[in-house]
Amino acid sequence: MNLLDFDLEGLAALCEGLGEKRFRAVQLFRWIHQKGAADFEQMSDLAKSLRGKLAGAAEVRAPAVISEHVSADGTVKWLFDVGAGNAVETVFIPEADRGTLCVSSQAGCAVGCRFCSTGHQGFSRNLSTGEIVGQLWFAEHRLRQTLKLPVGDRAIDNVVMMGMGEPLQNYDALVPALRTMLNDHAYGLSRRRVTVSTSGLTRMIERLQRDCPVALAVSLHAPDDALRDQLVPLNRKHNIEELLDACVRYLPAAPRDFITFEYCMLDGVNDTPEQARALVRLVQGRVPCKFNLIPFNPFPASGLRRSSVDRVQAFAQVLQAAGIVTTVRKTRGDDIDAACGQLAGEVQDRTNARERLARQRVIPIAERGAAA
Ligand code: SAH
Ligand code: SF4
Repeated sequence: MNLLDFDLEGLAALCEGLGEKRFRAVQLFRWIHQKGAADFEQMSDLAKSLRGKLAGAAEVRAPAVISEHVSADGTVKWLFDVGAGNAVETVFIPEADRGTLCVSSQAGCAVGCRFCSTGHQGFSRNLSTGEIVGQLWFAEHRLRQTLKLPVGDRAIDNVVMMGMGEPLQNYDALVPALRTMLNDHAYGLSRRRVTVSTSGLTRMIERLQRDCPVALAVSLHAPDDALRDQLVPLNRKHNIEELLDACVRYLPAAPRDFITFEYCMLDGVNDTPEQARALVRLVQGRVPCKFNLIPFNPFPASGLRRSSVDRVQAFAQVLQAAGIVTTVRKTRGDDIDAACGQLAGEVQDRTNARERLARQRVIPIAERGAAA
């Protein structure tokens, strides 16, 4: 039994099951998450009898680290072994005012977006709660050591579920992991500083609102269904209308009063001023939102190119002129392949994604009239 699999409620139930008082769980939770302890003998204020029971039945175990790479800009990328030939990546991005951890939720991803290296690798399996929380547990305590932080300071105060995988397709493991991130006896992160990024599973967005509302980022990538169907195959099931409705319904319970739309800028595919105007028409007066434009990070099999700086600027200006706050994401850690969409880990694919995606080509705008 791995104690990283439990949120506080789960741990309390476990303590009860062992014939202990529920409040023991708070002490245990603090030792594990605030102090990074994995050895029950270290947990000096826990009764010896409880320590004995735990040592016999439980462990605190993050996935094993295969490698650690540090970029020239301070970004750190870890590769974690999650068994059976699968490995996932986690990235720490230091900024002047905060430290962000980009966490993976699945070994691979079944959504299969055209421009995403994880999507091209296919899908192996969902991560467990312990494997999701374990990335934060390991990174936080490792960074405290390597950055030599004063006692009480934390390295990570912002978590984005933007690593490998579609978090809302691993909902049951995700929610306890989010609760642990938010809990004051663990990492105590603000709801505004825990972001779930999704390619648009509308029903799951509704459940998240009820179970654990955190900041929401939605990967939009196209202003119309014809193009989004090609880029984000899930759109064929949950189209843009349905997605925007889900966003509007999410907001009343959300910790922020806007949705962040992510938009990966692909040269000649989704980056024209006309498409920017179409986006404005789509969201204006309907969804309070911000746009985050992500210049495409190429990988060999994609067959796609990054939009030029001028194109990205012109696109941003159209949105900004309409009063929509728009930022262009800085590429961090690209010397160690840690930038958005470059996380690849190691995936024992069970879905033939590579072959499937290789057959599908995105039709550039210039050719679209002819194809219609
Ligand atoms: N599955 C979730 C979260 C992981 S991806 C989602 O799709 O939202 C995190 C972000 O990186 C998404 O917005 C995704 O579209 C973007 N992304 C994926 N591949 C990319 C690439 N090659 N270049 C730039 N951004 C990419
Ligand atoms: Fe999956 Fe997100 Fe990549 Fe799409 S962009 S394939 S949803 S990880």
